[in-house]
Amino acid sequence: MIERGVPLATALDYASLNPGEVTERILLRKKELNAVILGHNYQRVEIQDVSDYLGDSLGLSQEAAATDADVIVFCGVHFMAETAKILSPGKTVLMPDLRAGCPMADFVTGDALRRLKARHPDAAVVAYVNSTAEVKAESDICCTSSNAVKVVESIPRDRPIIFVPDRNLARYVEERTGRDNIIAWDGYCYVHDDMVLEELATARKAHPNALVVVHPEARRELLDAADVVTSTAGMVDLAEEHDSIIFGTERGLVDRMRQQFPGKTFVPLSGAAICGNMKLNTLAKLAWSLDHRAHEVTMDEEIRVRAHGALQRMLELSGGWQAPSEEEAALELAGVRSSGCGCG
Ligand code: SF4
Repeated sequence: MIERGVPLATALDYASLNPGEVTERILLRKKELNAVILGHNYQRVEIQDVSDYLGDSLGLSQEAAATDADVIVFCGVHFMAETAKILSPGKTVLMPDLRAGCPMADFVTGDALRRLKARHPDAAVVAYVNSTAEVKAESDICCTSSNAVKVVESIPRDRPIIFVPDRNLARYVEERTGRDNIIAWDGYCYVHDDMVLEELATARKAHPNALVVVHPEARRELLDAADVVTSTAGMVDLAEEHDSIIFGTERGLVDRMRQQFPGKTFVPLSGAAICGNMKLNTLAKLAWSLDHRAHEVTMDEEIRVRAHGALQRMLELSGGWQAPSEEEAALELAGVRSSGCGCG
């Protein structure tokens, strides 16, 4: 007999309870800790259901920084929880599963970036937000998939740019800005990079009138074949306007759009576009995390301050961050509109 409310030893123990009881425990402990649960758009539906905020990595972290919560539980991947800590150093940031990392962010380490910088001492460094705190700390400015072009255009044209870690986003920005001096790190998101033209052709054949929208983390040939290239937030806007869309991004977003607009034809470009790392978080692990105040995300204060500087420069360039209005917040929570920048 398990006593109600008493912490259990392992996440597996929570998984043996019925889901209703796990949810009850989560809500109770959340209140006791004055915690807020952030759920990324690509999380499992049951995690989204208990989240206080839903959205994209940066928007979520900024909203968490603006709340009076003492504890932030980030249901996403590691670099996102780090971003929350960078923006909210006084708050305890927890992750339900420490193994939920982002393979794209892990392509580049602080050491490797320092070596590349030494070879290009005049270059400015632009870091996609899908990067570790240490990499952000080594960078001049961060960017998201929504503002990458604007960020790069803010750097004098004759100054070389080291762009990390996504080679596909770097090439897209290079083409959009007409620059020929971007040194792209050879990293990629396996979810977007694995989508291929054959899958696009099959989807188009099945849905000849659908709009094809592709995320800039995809390969160039996919971007060239798309009707629109845009971030996840841009895709959500298009979902409101169009009745039939083929989405070239992670399936979690497509599933959510289907839920929100049941009468519309929304299909994934690739049925295999699933981020397994995002799906490592479960309701049972979330309950365990709250009961044990684990796993806490910590970082060196000097790294945090420098990483904060790179994020801050991006925010200043894009006009800063504004908390959503009550109506926008309600729409975000309902999944109809997302703020921020896509996965990153
Ligand atoms: S979808 Fe891609 S970029 Fe986002 S967390 Fe997964 S691997 Fe990283």
